[in-house]
Amino acid sequence: MAQAPYCSLMARSTPWKDQYTLLCEKCGYVLEGLDQAGVCPECGVPIEGSLPGSRLGTPYQQKPGLRSLLQTAWLTIHNPKRALEIMSFDRSAPRSPLSPILTYTVVACIALVMLEMFSKPNSMTNFALFFGIMTIIGVLIWSAFFILTIIFAYLLLAIARLLRWRCDTEACWVIAGHAAIGWSFTGFAWVAGWYTDRLIQYLVPTQSDWHLRIQTMTLIDTVILPVFFGGIVLGSLIFAYISYLGLRRCKYANRLRPENSDPGATTRP
Ligand SMILES: [Zn+2]
Repeated sequence: MAQAPYCSLMARSTPWKDQYTLLCEKCGYVLEGLDQAGVCPECGVPIEGSLPGSRLGTPYQQKPGLRSLLQTAWLTIHNPKRALEIMSFDRSAPRSPLSPILTYTVVACIALVMLEMFSKPNSMTNFALFFGIMTIIGVLIWSAFFILTIIFAYLLLAIARLLRWRCDTEACWVIAGHAAIGWSFTGFAWVAGWYTDRLIQYLVPTQSDWHLRIQTMTLIDTVILPVFFGGIVLGSLIFAYISYLGLRRCKYANRLRPENSDPGATTRP
């Protein structure tokens, strides 16, 4: 049934009673009490696709672990729309893979940077010191991206509230947690920058004459700074893209009503 735009806006301001009211995931129409084998009266999409049971959770949400985290990361990057279709917002499911994404990324990046030390046996005396410094840097980067993701999650929440979408704090946190895979790209771009720096220093030995060394330093600055900021931009763009898709796809996402919740709330007003 087609409605005038102002009617749709009015209908969207008060249609659901709580986070568990069954809505059409495409248009937000209240589907409570309708035949689940039918279609949404507003947009014609099958109701079956909006049932909370179709949100099984991303692989990591289903079974947390390194393997499922990699599967989730690949799915989120390769087919974000599919990841957002199955993403679960149930409170019982493990919610956000943010912490393991950051942890594994930081550990992998430190390991990749440290790898270079093993190629030079005489540098092993500095190994402990370098490892300590890298660990401190890793913890700082982990914390910075964790805080950044919290800020972005609240930004998503503010946008959702502004547009009157049914994305609560929890949903925004889950979306941002998956979008955080973008920070892995930042980390690996930095590692690529580190090895570019090493390669330049390897190709231009330090015993070269002074003006060649100055040229080398300039070249390192020319390469490293764009890699550093480029990595942040790359990660932010991936994060923003997945978050944007997530907000749009999950603006009326349904979730299973907990058993201790008031069942009367599911009835259509
Ligand atoms: Zn609909």
